[in-house]
Amino acid sequence: MTIRLLPPNLVNQIAAGEVVERPASALKELVENSIDAGATRIDIVLNDGGRSLIVVTDNGCGMTPQELIVAVDRHATSKLPSDDLLDINYLGFRGEALPAIGSVARLTVTSRTQDADSGWYVVVAGGRKDGPVPAPHPRGTRVEVRDIFYATPARLKFLKASSTELTYAVDAIERLAMAHPDIAFTLTADGKQRLNLPAGHMQGDLFDVHLERIASVIGKDFGANAVPVAAEREDIRLFGYIGVPTFNRGNALAQYLFVNGRPVRDRLLHGAVRAAYQDFLAANRHPYVVLFLEVPQRDVDVNVHPAKAEVRFRDAGLVRGLLVGALKHALAEAGHKASTTVAGAALGAFRPGDGRVFSGGGPISYAAAQMAYTMQAPEDGQGLAENEAPSLFALAPSAPDATPVQVVEADYQSHPLGVARAQVHETYIVAQTSDGIVIVDQHAAHERLVYERMKTALANGGIHRQILLIPEVVELDEPSAARIGARAAEFAELGLVVEPFGAGAVVVREMPSLLGETDVPSLIKDLADDLASVDEALTLKDKLGDVCGTLACHSAIRAGRRLNGPEMNALLRQMEVTPHAGQCNHGRPTYVELKLKDIERLFGRR
Ligand code: ADP
Ligand code: MG
Repeated sequence: MTIRLLPPNLVNQIAAGEVVERPASALKELVENSIDAGATRIDIVLNDGGRSLIVVTDNGCGMTPQELIVAVDRHATSKLPSDDLLDINYLGFRGEALPAIGSVARLTVTSRTQDADSGWYVVVAGGRKDGPVPAPHPRGTRVEVRDIFYATPARLKFLKASSTELTYAVDAIERLAMAHPDIAFTLTADGKQRLNLPAGHMQGDLFDVHLERIASVIGKDFGANAVPVAAEREDIRLFGYIGVPTFNRGNALAQYLFVNGRPVRDRLLHGAVRAAYQDFLAANRHPYVVLFLEVPQRDVDVNVHPAKAEVRFRDAGLVRGLLVGALKHALAEAGHKASTTVAGAALGAFRPGDGRVFSGGGPISYAAAQMAYTMQAPEDGQGLAENEAPSLFALAPSAPDATPVQVVEADYQSHPLGVARAQVHETYIVAQTSDGIVIVDQHAAHERLVYERMKTALANGGIHRQILLIPEVVELDEPSAARIGARAAEFAELGLVVEPFGAGAVVVREMPSLLGETDVPSLIKDLADDLASVDEALTLKDKLGDVCGTLACHSAIRAGRRLNGPEMNALLRQMEVTPHAGQCNHGRPTYVELKLKDIERLFGRR
């Protein structure tokens, strides 16, 4: 066995294995260098997703020929002037990117400082460097990377299709661009411009500049569905925007997290986001968040990971607490704001009617009929429905439980969710507000109310129970009865007093009073089914959302039950005072709102 020092190029290739995993990571390093160089404009060109060509051009400070030749050497950096790893003020500091890229690709760096008359370039290929050679060049730096990984075929084989590599590259640039709205970015891939982000004007409100850049990256929808976050604790500052829970998606890709201007993928931070949203989103749905954390340099270690994507906080608990608290607070402030996109989509689904008359059949109330009339397009498709309600209103108010409520104008003002005018399909409540209508999914809304009330009651010393006049014996199969019995103590805490009753049955003695009238046997059967899929290590409180969902399903307000006016209005009033009533436990909206002006647009009145 011979121990030897590895030749420098091999050392660089080993480093490259960590620093440049794929074209996107090389690109990220180069653009970070441009940002560190004080550029205000960065132009990127990629061919084949960066496999054959990556070019980054900036108008930053540039390098002298002497600096150029050193810059491509390992551990050469201008960014740690004080030798202090706790004092990192640039995105770079490890001095690894250029030599690493030079060891696996053909690298050309051309640069001219702000006060030089001309530029110079160096070439590094297969770890061998040449130059500096004079060359005409505008002020700033241009880095060209050709045939990445040609020198390490094993790595080349792991690259994905060019289109996939391009997606990674665009994502990396979008993240950097979000943190630096004052810098203009363009990205051209195979001759087609993929990104064009002009520089924002930093004179204005910093929040606005950020939001503008964020919206141009994520899309305008985010701007419309986001709430601002701002919080501070000790020396740590958090700001940004987070999407309302109903504006969610199936993966966590739309979570943009930054620490001191550095895009990070950090488990602690992602975990904190998940915790803040856990009451509002199903496990497989993810929110949109853009969050910037400013932490004193001395309280955060960015030297954890070669690609600098992870960080370590001195006081992780403090950071997590700040994040979870600020996000929950922002979501509560958003109140029952549901996603506008959902309403937008619903509006899109409204089509002009076919002239059919909504008449006869069913317990449709006068108000509902009026509603139906208002929502119908005129026969010729262009007449403006100015004239008064025609004869179809001969339809008398019928079922007594659907009698329209007496509406006092002032009610609209004090009640954001308006006054119930009708129930349709035994599932949706239609209410009139001061400037539009609201359609409530009564089941989803009720489920949310049950959940929020359970939570509050649990926190305030227990759930109020109601003793059943006649205890209800529910027959089950043996394993189901055993599962219920085993959790009897936990159910009691949730207000459901149930005991084993022989081998295949249980007896229910008390119910949570907030449930109201409930179909007890089918509730117990469903709970038994739920338990079959609940991990034994989890407590019912951990799965409270699911348990409440099941409880709500069997109580009075479930879909398919007809409600009378006072019941409907009671539900609306409860929604208004319940936090997070705008979405159900799975992140779907509990109601949608159509503004009068949107309705008017449907009818060509505007
Ligand atoms: P690091 O960024 O960690 O310092 P790099 O290998 O990425 O290491 O870069 C080495 C050095 O080259 C930098 O410290 C910087 O001085 C110089 N440099 C790299 N890119 C640029 C650029 N676009 N403009 C000006 N200087 C640059
Ligand atoms: Mg660098």
